Amino acid sequence: MDGGTDTKEIYENVMNILEDLTSNAHKLQEQVLEEILKSNAGTEYLSRFFPNGQADKQSFKTNVPIITYEDIKPYIDRIANGDTPSILLAYRITQFIQSSGTSGGQPKLIPMTAESFEKRMYEPLLPDLVIKRCFNGSDEGKSLYLYFIKPEMETPSGLVASLYTTFYFKTKSFKTGLAKFCTSPIETILCSDNKQSMFCQLLTGLLQRDEVVRMGSSFASVLPRSIKFLDDYWKELCSNIRTGYLSDWITDAGCRNAMSLILTRPNPEMADLIQQICEDKSWEGIIKKLWPKIKYITSICTGSMSQYIPLLEFYGGGIPLVSPNYSSSEACFGINLKPLSKPFDVSYTFLPNTAYFEFLPVNKDGGGKAQDTRTIDKPVDLVNVKLGQYYEVVVTTLTGLYRYRIGDVLKVTGFYNKSPQFQFVERQNVVLSIDLDKTTEEDLSKAIMKAKIVLEPLGIMLTTYSSYADTSLMPGRYVLFWELKMKGRNDLPKLDAEIMEQCCCIVEESFDFTYKSLRKGGIISGLELRVVKHGTFDQLMDYYVSKGASITQYKPPSCLKSKEAVKILNSGMAGKFFSSKTMF
Ligand code: AMP
Repeated sequence: MDGGTDTKEIYENVMNILEDLTSNAHKLQEQVLEEILKSNAGTEYLSRFFPNGQADKQSFKTNVPIITYEDIKPYIDRIANGDTPSILLAYRITQFIQSSGTSGGQPKLIPMTAESFEKRMYEPLLPDLVIKRCFNGSDEGKSLYLYFIKPEMETPSGLVASLYTTFYFKTKSFKTGLAKFCTSPIETILCSDNKQSMFCQLLTGLLQRDEVVRMGSSFASVLPRSIKFLDDYWKELCSNIRTGYLSDWITDAGCRNAMSLILTRPNPEMADLIQQICEDKSWEGIIKKLWPKIKYITSICTGSMSQYIPLLEFYGGGIPLVSPNYSSSEACFGINLKPLSKPFDVSYTFLPNTAYFEFLPVNKDGGGKAQDTRTIDKPVDLVNVKLGQYYEVVVTTLTGLYRYRIGDVLKVTGFYNKSPQFQFVERQNVVLSIDLDKTTEEDLSKAIMKAKIVLEPLGIMLTTYSSYADTSLMPGRYVLFWELKMKGRNDLPKLDAEIMEQCCCIVEESFDFTYKSLRKGGIISGLELRVVKHGTFDQLMDYYVSKGASITQYKPPSCLKSKEAVKILNSGMAGKFFSSKTMF
């Protein structure tokens, strides 16, 4: 963007587009569905549901079942093995997008067509402009965005399957658009060795520290991980800056080439300055100190990412945290129109032109279990959702997903013109369960947020958490893993057994009636809290990355299902505590 007038005009245009989209939500949703049915009703998958050939909205709603990935997997598998894509959609598939949903789950393959690719390329631009509009002068500097790729795979039919972000970073649209404003040269983003990539991206970020006005990543989980890397490598990074010589272990040719254009001379003054900042015992506000012109951090901080908010606020030293959008490999759902809202209050305004959306009401009131009370037979349209009500989102897309449950639970918090705004609540399938109890991701997060307050006056920070249902003994119990560190330092705090037990009790006390009754009846044992050393959850992330998750789209698993994952966290255990609470 050049002059101020141009920029203002662009912002105005963006706002006009958003006004237009949201005011015509109903009409746009009807059009999207019509277009999908017009092109795809004749496919093998859909045509069964329209026996008399009449593929209108009413027949769609009456006949087409609401499904999960497992229901269309046979079709996807057939296409991946060489069958014609027209069994599922009318357009030619150009590649598959691998969706993780949660990092613990099996990757799913979502078809991508040239048309959907064209549309999706513009997705990141809209929230980006909405955010920049709120921060004066932020259109001028550079972005320290930490982006990583994951190697692609090929299906037997020769179609490429990659993560959406990997695919996007390789497009011309990214290279000639957002990438031009990033401190990281494209070669460092496209380096498939995550460690070399991280080192080079931090190094270029530091070298351009006076130009950086925003820092970010797709999901918040990447940022604490990057700060930890910085903590482990700042001496070496400073030495590279001091000598102007790139570490020998950076062997990736693309990285070396790109770095040779940026690390051009010894810069001992800059190295001294960075060293001085990093030597400070407390890393409170380190981001602001290292990048003094930074105006905000942009990264998805809602849902399971919200556990990173306190840590990012600590490292950010007061810099606003902005959650830009809510989207997935399957579709783009919405954007945050109030970038300045507090991270825990963020709502996303749905974009009615990206897919056809339906919403399954979910009853989470009165201590009712979402699982028991969900009514899956009567979904409502986008414009008919009710304020304050919880829903699970269902999408229909041009790319072969018909009434497909995404698995996310959302709460309606308002409307922007005719488009609803939602708060992300939780993943529907992430639950701790023993006997009749089902403790959801949101129940768990709320209980932990209450309990950790006890630790705050002691200068102890909960940096991340997870859990699992331990049923190896009878009766079973829920086990929490907490990674704790002192506010100023990374050291493990001295753990006071009484206080840690108190945390266990607060968590249990926050759980609902079913949990408490089962506890009282001896069906569930007292909660166990295992404290792990700083860095243990990084090992968990490494494990999932080695199993195929990507760093860029990593979602920390709130409830562990894998024994290997539990083993990794157990290996970092520094203490365990039990609830002594008697439930009456
Ligand atoms: P993937 O397709 O693998 O990137 O995963 C998409 C999933 O990430 C969504 O279904 C959500 O569960 C989660 N997700 C995406 N955006 C957000 C957001 N803004 N807040 C919370 N969770 C999100």
